[in-house]
Amino acid sequence: VAETSGEFGLIEWIRRRVAAHPALEIGIGDDAAVLNWPSEKTLVTVDMLMEGVDFTFPEASPEQVGRKALSVNLSDIAAMGGKPIAAVVSVALPRRHGAELARRLQQGIEQRAREFDVALAGGDTNSWDGPLVISITVLGEPSARGPVLRSGARAGDWILVTGEFGGSIAGHHLEFTPRVREGLLLAENYDVHAMIDVSDGLAADLHHVLDESRLGALLFADRIPISAAARATTDGKSPLEHALSDGEDFELIFTVAPETAQALLALPPFDTPLTHIGFIEAAPGCRLQSADGSQRELPALGWRHEL
Ligand code: ADP
Ligand code: MG
Repeated sequence: VAETSGEFGLIEWIRRRVAAHPALEIGIGDDAAVLNWPSEKTLVTVDMLMEGVDFTFPEASPEQVGRKALSVNLSDIAAMGGKPIAAVVSVALPRRHGAELARRLQQGIEQRAREFDVALAGGDTNSWDGPLVISITVLGEPSARGPVLRSGARAGDWILVTGEFGGSIAGHHLEFTPRVREGLLLAENYDVHAMIDVSDGLAADLHHVLDESRLGALLFADRIPISAAARATTDGKSPLEHALSDGEDFELIFTVAPETAQALLALPPFDTPLTHIGFIEAAPGCRLQSADGSQRELPALGWRHEL
């Protein structure tokens, strides 16, 4: 007899809602899922969101948290130029209102999973006397041209970005659309040398590419796309500084040969704005050039967990 409350009632409720998917030979309900896997290589990524760090209630709704928890992982798959296939979800639910919270989280997860055709393969449900913690693992397949790494940038490459940067905390961090379609279109149709998604901040994440590729960069301050939210900030930091350091933009930074960049900018394969912000250079470090031609060193500003 199916239970209707507690952990197993919740799992039963989730199980009945979750749609069949061609990747799911066996989905929720057994000890492990069985996937029909389309490719030889598999992308795997996991991200954990913690109440009080990555979101707070009631600023965020539970549905938004569910959507964000899946979206941050989809953004990582996008940054590899891959296609997300399946997800597994672990939750630590606060004991008070845990069931109600779990159902609303689930609706957010499902909505995003449907949008990107991701199979919900299973999960783990726990409760405790602590705040909400949710961790999602996403499995995906690289494009036929192979995964796009951080380490592949070449001197002379143009640095391009999708979208706009800064001020994400005002709402974008809960409402962004992961650049899965863009990442896949780029990886499938162009020779993308290196790519990363912006979670820590434009400068910090560009530095990851530079470090892994053992190269440097020149950026143009007046070409950085600054979001309306960054322009609206009033904390004394300039909009540019916000755009370079805020984080959770979940846009893509990628590098391509100049001819590829020109072709992309002339005829973009998607509607999402694409902007040329600078060049990869042999000299290490990242230089930011102002409109007057002066340059300063741009450090890896951005978010990191204190350890
Ligand atoms: P086990 O104890 O063998 O790990 P569980 O009772 O934890 O089994 O889970 C039973 C089934 O429900 C498994 O298929 C598991 O993947 C799925 N499941 C549990 N929690 C969730 C969740 N939050 N979302 C999706 N599937 C879940
Ligand atoms: Mg379990």
